[in-house]
Amino acid sequence: MVLPICDVCLKSGMLCQGCENKLKSGEITQLDLDIAKLLYKLGEGTIGFKKTIEIGDVVIIVTEKDQVGKIIGKSGKIVRAISKKIGKKVRVIGEGSDFKEVAKDILAPARISGINIVYGTDGEEKYKIRVMREDSRRLPARLDVLNDIMKQLTHEKTVIVIDDL
Ligand SMILES: [Zn+2]
Repeated sequence: MVLPICDVCLKSGMLCQGCENKLKSGEITQLDLDIAKLLYKLGEGTIGFKKTIEIGDVVIIVTEKDQVGKIIGKSGKIVRAISKKIGKKVRVIGEGSDFKEVAKDILAPARISGINIVYGTDGEEKYKIRVMREDSRRLPARLDVLNDIMKQLTHEKTVIVIDDL
C-alpha cells in the first residue's frame, strides 16, 4: 500500500514537515492529499495510489494494477465517493497498462467498438478510437479533453470518434 503522504499524516490529519515540504515543492498536490485521506478512511488503510492527474473536469488516479479494483470498489462505490467529495469525474488507471486498457478505462462506461491506426496528411501516426454510438452520452468528458488525457497517459495521439449510424 503506497500513498503520497506518510501514515503519521494520514492518521493525524495534519502534515508533518516532510509531507509539508512535498506539498510546497509541488511533488504532491492538494488533490493528492485529499484523495489520500479519503482512501485511507474508506479503505481502512489498504488502498494505495501513485499519483493523480487533473485534466478539465476529470481526475485520473494512477495506481498499481492490483489496486485498481480496490479504488473502484464494489459496484463503483469508492470511486463514486471520491468523485462526490472532489466534485469531479474520476477514472482509475493501472500503472503499466497497455494502450487498449488505458483507452477502455478512460472512456468507461462508454464502450469502445474498435481501435485502429490512421495516418494524418503529414504521415503522422494516430490511434483512432471508435465509441459505440449508443454510448456517446456516457463519455466522461468532451472528446478534446479525452484526447488530451490519452496523450498524457500514453504519449500517443488519438482521435476519438463516435460510430456512425
Ligand atoms: Zn507526513
